[in-house]
Amino acid sequence: MKYDIAVIGAGVVGAAVAYRLRQALPHARLLVLEKESSPAFHQSGRNSGVIHSGIYYKPGSLKALLCAKGREMLYEFAQKEGIPHERCGKLILAPEPQELPRLQALYERGIANGIPGIRLLSPEEIPLYEPEARGAGAIHVPVTGIIDYRALTQRLLELSEAHLQYNAEVFRLSPASDGYVLHTTQGTYETKYFIACAGLQADRIAQMDGLYPPLRIVPFRGDYYELRPEARWKVKNLIYPLPHPTYPVLGVHLTRMIDGSVEAGPNAVFAWAREIYSRTGFSWRDTIDALGFGGTWRFFFKHWREGLEEYRRAFSKRLFWRSLQRLVPSLTEEDLIPARSGIRALALTREGTFWDDFYFVAQARSLHVLNAPSPAATASLALAEVIVKKALQEWTFSTSVAISGA
Ligand SMILES: Cc1cc2nc3c(=O)[nH]c(=O)nc-3n(C[C@H](O)[C@H](O)[C@H](O)COP(=O)(O)OP(=O)(O)OC[C@H]3O[C@@H](n4cnc5c(N)ncnc54)[C@H](O)[C@@H]3O)c2cc1C
Repeated sequence: MKYDIAVIGAGVVGAAVAYRLRQALPHARLLVLEKESSPAFHQSGRNSGVIHSGIYYKPGSLKALLCAKGREMLYEFAQKEGIPHERCGKLILAPEPQELPRLQALYERGIANGIPGIRLLSPEEIPLYEPEARGAGAIHVPVTGIIDYRALTQRLLELSEAHLQYNAEVFRLSPASDGYVLHTTQGTYETKYFIACAGLQADRIAQMDGLYPPLRIVPFRGDYYELRPEARWKVKNLIYPLPHPTYPVLGVHLTRMIDGSVEAGPNAVFAWAREIYSRTGFSWRDTIDALGFGGTWRFFFKHWREGLEEYRRAFSKRLFWRSLQRLVPSLTEEDLIPARSGIRALALTREGTFWDDFYFVAQARSLHVLNAPSPAATASLALAEVIVKKALQEWTFSTSVAISGA
């Protein structure tokens, strides 16, 4: 069977792309290849489950625009398709008075990004939203929500009506007369076009396609704790600190999940493997790839202080608890139970800076999503719309004609 378009990766971005492709090309033969045995196996199924507002991002960036647009698309889609979700709002806290200028700057960024309904709160107003939280000030963000991203990914794939092949790892690409042959662990597939949404493996698929992108995916693990059931009442919705000014993370936070549990985390530590989730997980290939790249060392050099702090906290429950106690003083160390981990695909440049926006490269016969970090799950429907439009633009006119008549 020859396919019109193949999508590599059944995370939320790949699933949203397949769904948008079906909308754009109702008669196309679509294929989704996933190397794991189920969808959303990596980042999409191991994230914080938050629908982000878009407050944090540089105004005018793709992240800012697509997060805001995708957030509303996501609420509408989830409502229509019965995906468990809730628009519950969140607090971003400045625990200490010296953090107030940064809180004010974030509030102004939120206004510049057009985030609806955000409000600065005085210390007295904080407990009206979160009775156990304390701080010198806070921002209330009413449009933030929570969702089940696994259920979302699953539904998008169903609606795409694509042929879905699990346990099919793409390990080689070769040219065909009219597109590509994708070599997988389940056999070969011929396609006229493909879109790679491979998350933690994005740079490797690009290399298979002869591209040498100016960035490398470096894995950063995020560990979570869970609040024991008797302590869940201490957190009503979502409580975040101010994001770190230079380190590319939001800081450990408290998140009520859609199943009613409350999670604390994630931290952000350099990981020795892209897809092994234990705290001591190690892969030679991934480690050599990360440490053989100059950008990783430059990143370490710039951020050694934050990196060391994160490492200490990864192995010390007490330090983790202390970070959370700045937000909710009544939390005790015993309230925290070790829970799961996720791994972020951090795209680093050769200069050792992280690539701070969505990034994809479109060609005549393939498109590579090379950087889809948070809030890509929130933005997935809007991001997929842009990706599909770009891919179809790049595709040759003759192929488009063949598809519309298929
Ligand atoms: C700890 C953590 C917390 C986060 N919290 C949030 C949040 O609350 N809200 C939010 O909006 N975003 C959040 N994010 C970010 C968000 O989860 C990701 O941006 C998003 O899931 C990326 O989706 P993806 O489909 O690109 O990648 P992935 O979900 O990683 O999917 C890529 C897929 O490609 C497959 N694949 C890779 N290589 C191959 C191959 N060779 N052949 C076949 N298949 C292949 C993989 O198996 C995988 O299933 C978080 C991320 C992490 C890690």
